[in-house]
Amino acid sequence: MRELTQENYYEDKAYLTNSRFKRYQQCQAKALAVDIGEWVEDRDETPLLLGNYVHSYFESPEAHEKFLAENGDKLLAKTGKNKGNLKSDFVIGDKMIESLKDDDGFNNLYHGYSDDDVQKEMIVFGEIEGVPVKGKLDSVNVSRGYFVDLKTMKSIYSDEWNAELRKRVPAAVNNILGFGYHGQLALYRELLKQMTGREFRPYIVAVSKENVPDRDILKIDEEWLEEGLNKLKSEIVGVWKVIQGEKEPEKCGRCDFCRSQKKLTGAIKLSDLIGE
Ligand SMILES: [Zn+2]
Repeated sequence: MRELTQENYYEDKAYLTNSRFKRYQQCQAKALAVDIGEWVEDRDETPLLLGNYVHSYFESPEAHEKFLAENGDKLLAKTGKNKGNLKSDFVIGDKMIESLKDDDGFNNLYHGYSDDDVQKEMIVFGEIEGVPVKGKLDSVNVSRGYFVDLKTMKSIYSDEWNAELRKRVPAAVNNILGFGYHGQLALYRELLKQMTGREFRPYIVAVSKENVPDRDILKIDEEWLEEGLNKLKSEIVGVWKVIQGEKEPEKCGRCDFCRSQKKLTGAIKLSDLIGE
C-alpha cells in the first residue's frame, strides 16, 4: 500500500473511508456504479461546501484562504436581489464561525493549550476485519489523548421523531445515529489506537445552521461507540468483496439508481404495500 498524504488522500481508492462504506450500506449497486463512474450522484453541493467553509476556518487561516480561492464563486448568489453577495447559506456559515471563534471552551478543546501537540486534518489508517480503512480527523490533541470532530447540523435540540428508538429526540440524536457518526468516531478511535497504541477519547463539537447558531460539545457513550463499530465490522467484509468484484452488488430497489434500472414485470397488491 502506498503512503497516504494530504495530496493523494481523496484520489486514493485502495483504502475504504467511512463515507464510502456508508454509501455501500445504503445501496451496493448504486455505490458501485458511482465508484466506477457509471452513475453521477445528483445532490445539492451546498451542505458540503458550508461544512468545508466552517471547517477550513478552524483548520488554519491558510486553509480558509485556499478554500475561498478554490470555491469563491460558488459562495456568491448568481441571481436575485442578493446577486454578487454571499449566498444566505454562507452568511449563516459566518454566524456559525462567529459563534465558536471567541468561545474559550471551544478554543481550548479544538486548538488545545499553547504547549499541546494538536494536529489538524490528521490522516489515520489501518485495518478493520482485514479491510484497509482510512480517515481524516479534524483535530487531534496528541498531548492530551483526545480528538474532536466538528459537525454542522440543522439544529441540535429541535424535537424530532426517531422511528428506531420509537420516541422523540433532540435533532442531534437523529443526525448522529442517522449518519452513523457513532460508528465513524469509534472507527477513528480504533485506527488511532492501531497507529499509536493509545486509546483516544472522541468528542463532537456540534454547531447548528440556525439563524442564531447553537453549539455544544457532545460525547458518545461507550456502548454507542461499540454498537457503531460492531455494525461496521459485521458489514465491512461484504462491502469490500463487492468493491473487489468478488461479489455481485445487491440492489436496494428504491434509490434513484435502482429506479433508473427498473423494468415492470408484474402487479403489486395493495395489501402487500401496506404490509411492508
Ligand atoms: Zn438502490
